[in-house]
Amino acid sequence: MKISQKHDVNISGQFSFSPRVSNAKIKVICGPMFSGKTKTLIKTIAAYQADGKKVVVFKPKLDDRYAEEAIVSHDKDENEAINVGKSAEILDLFHNADVVAIDEVQFFDPSIVGVCNVIAGQGKSVVVAGLDMDYRGIPFGSMPELLIMADEVVKLNSVCTFCSGKARHSHRVSKDSGVVVLGEKDKYVPLCRSCYNELKEG
Ligand SMILES: [Zn+2]
Repeated sequence: MKISQKHDVNISGQFSFSPRVSNAKIKVICGPMFSGKTKTLIKTIAAYQADGKKVVVFKPKLDDRYAEEAIVSHDKDENEAINVGKSAEILDLFHNADVVAIDEVQFFDPSIVGVCNVIAGQGKSVVVAGLDMDYRGIPFGSMPELLIMADEVVKLNSVCTFCSGKARHSHRVSKDSGVVVLGEKDKYVPLCRSCYNELKEG
């Protein structure tokens, strides 16, 4: 547990605040598909647990890839998770957890922003992972608001399928329409900015 030193001593060397013990914060892990967001989330959860924290993990109900009651990375790391349909349900279910972790946060309804604020306001940590852009390059769901509110942001990149550069786009290669189409590399490929733009123009 870290004790914040920043405000404990003023310029004259006298205590201006009593030391506060708090790790409460909102952390957002974002990036395109295949950038290791869920893997990073699972690692973060493990680090909190190693520190003795109780972590409760949530994911949106629509994501049923690999496993029902778990979050699973593309290389099959996994962690138990509770499926919820509406973001407000998280407030009823996180109980006495020290940390609330949420995967695929971009799929939740707009109330997720308030939900994260309420949890952090109770002195808990919130760590969420999600796609920052949809396949059209448009901000996904409540990600812009969550990124603005975050105390800490981890922005991940994938590897561009065409040039091996840093990929930030999740380009849809299937003919499915609709913003939410779940899938793997049969449906999406990571692309860098220039390859994505070239493909769009061509
Ligand atoms: Zn490229």
